[in-house]
Amino acid sequence: MSSVQDAGAADLAADRVGTKHDGPSISATVDLSAIAHNVRLLRARAGGAAVMTVVKADGYGHGAARVARAALDAGASEIGVATIDEALELRAAGIHEPILAWLHSSSGQFADALASDIALGVSSIEQARAVRAAARAHSGPVRVDIKLDTGLSRGGAPASEWSAVMDELADAEAEGPLRVRGVFSHLACADEPGHPSIDRQAALFRGGIALAGARGLTPTVNHLANSAATLTRPDLAFDLVRPGLATYGLSPVSEPGDFGLRAALGLTARLALVKPVATGEGASYGHRWLAERDTTLGLVPMGYADGLPRALSGRFTVQANGVDYPAVGRICMDQFVIDLGDNEDALSAGDTVTLIGSGPDEITLQQWAETLDTISYELATLLRGRTRRRYLDA
Ligand SMILES: *Cc1c(COP(=O)(O)O)cnc(C)c1O
Repeated sequence: MSSVQDAGAADLAADRVGTKHDGPSISATVDLSAIAHNVRLLRARAGGAAVMTVVKADGYGHGAARVARAALDAGASEIGVATIDEALELRAAGIHEPILAWLHSSSGQFADALASDIALGVSSIEQARAVRAAARAHSGPVRVDIKLDTGLSRGGAPASEWSAVMDELADAEAEGPLRVRGVFSHLACADEPGHPSIDRQAALFRGGIALAGARGLTPTVNHLANSAATLTRPDLAFDLVRPGLATYGLSPVSEPGDFGLRAALGLTARLALVKPVATGEGASYGHRWLAERDTTLGLVPMGYADGLPRALSGRFTVQANGVDYPAVGRICMDQFVIDLGDNEDALSAGDTVTLIGSGPDEITLQQWAETLDTISYELATLLRGRTRRRYLDA
């Protein structure tokens, strides 16, 4: 289910040798020391609360298992994913620490989840009944966190069902190994600090915790905060925080300095061709760009099939040796073109250009997101196709 394939051993060996013309043509480099740094920073922000690192969607495009391992080694105490499939993949990849999965379209996999010691988020009375039935047929411990909808109107049980879900699970607790460890909820507008819905949701959430107590449950690990709330509302950390995006060094809230987060993802490609064009010649489909002077073009072998949004056509630059080169003309399925000017740096086929970097003057995923009027979450999870992922170890 990986969005990006990892580079093969041969690719990496070719890279280490430094041979200019070998190795992957498009590399997404994930710096695991940045992941570790961000987890430590989030842990410090969370005060006494524990950290659940969210690695859904293949670790926001960074590779779920490698990110999970790095996060756990850096002090996260558990891992969060959306689906049971995602959780099972992590188990298969050797992640043995606690994992919570909270998005289920059927209860068909509950037994598999319990067999792999995966905790389940429960969002409805049907799910509560199904997890109770699965727990009866299971011998080991069963951990459940009740997901309360406090105003996002997405996942989670609506307030009208809270009591029924809690009663069902209190009965299940009395029967055997099932334990409701906590209640949790998700914020709608945490990325807009000061938005009135945040305090409204927090108040409803506190009410939900109290209701669970009144219904005979003893939830001790309650959690509400995503990245934005972890960074801006330490008072809402409860017992555990649930950051995803910030783990990857991407900020959900624009703040100068970005809280000290370090971007983990870099994106580079090797030029496939370098060649001259004369004044007036057009480049790429539709000739939306015409050379205003005699110049040199570089062909970058990455296109929208590899996760580079076509809507970025003509609206971004790449870098090589600290110099910016504009992308010109349309992004195609497999490739796009950059204007190297008189090519003073003498770039040639096989040389590497940087699309996304992590250094201070480098282009960030956030800049692309702003250009496209979207969020960095979407762009990080787009990478695919011929993009190969490589890890820098912590
Ligand atoms: C995705 C998700 C998170 C993480 O959100 P970020 O904004 O990436 O920190 C936390 N909790 C739930 C329920 C989620 O779906």
